[in-house]
Amino acid sequence: ITFASLGLAEPLLRAVHDAGYTHPTPIQAQAIPRVLEGGDLLAAAQTGTGKTAGFTLPILHYLLSHPAAPRPGRPRVLVLTPTRELTAQVEESVRLYGQHTAVRSMVMFGGVNINPQIAALRKPVDILVATPGRLLDHVQQKTLDLSGIEILVLDEADRMLDMGFIHDIRRVLKLLPAKRQNLLFSATFSDEIRSLAQGILNNPGEVSV
Ligand code: AMP
Repeated sequence: ITFASLGLAEPLLRAVHDAGYTHPTPIQAQAIPRVLEGGDLLAAAQTGTGKTAGFTLPILHYLLSHPAAPRPGRPRVLVLTPTRELTAQVEESVRLYGQHTAVRSMVMFGGVNINPQIAALRKPVDILVATPGRLLDHVQQKTLDLSGIEILVLDEADRMLDMGFIHDIRRVLKLLPAKRQNLLFSATFSDEIRSLAQGILNNPGEVSV
């Protein structure tokens, strides 16, 4: 199996080639087709498996094949992660794989001054990578509009629950359009994760590596 045979757009194949990847990893081979067909996904995958490209590449493909007028402060894709470090890593991947596209991304996390983030939101953004608490601060300040979210990713969902983000996550979910694609990644599967997944995902494809 090759990246080209997965049907990814040419600018993405170029970026993957630039990154030196010859073949999709197992999680990528399983997750990419599922995400491309528009279905929900429940994925058991640890860091180091290539999971980030597993959701980033098909999301970029979706944005390229469904262009929309850019709207400041109104992203189309939301990736929730537990930590500042992970938001930075995920956005770096978005930039890497999206380097030959015009897709715009931004990160948002707490513990830093909110004003530069407010300024950044005045520019159009397609993919927002955020921790839940600061995301809600922006919604409250009306600097962020989540009514245009078409794809939601919960990355490292088990760590988000461990860190006590369940209430924030539930609050965020209420702000999203009902009709959307949902992808949930977790290293482990507790009863708590299963019940979170059940409340969010519709008939999910399950992949595990
Ligand atoms: P992740 O599990 O998403 O944190 O990715 C782990 C590492 O694997 C990252 O450094 C990626 O650059 C690398 N990687 C992702 N996909 C591939 C691939 N298909 N071939 C080789 N390396 C990859």
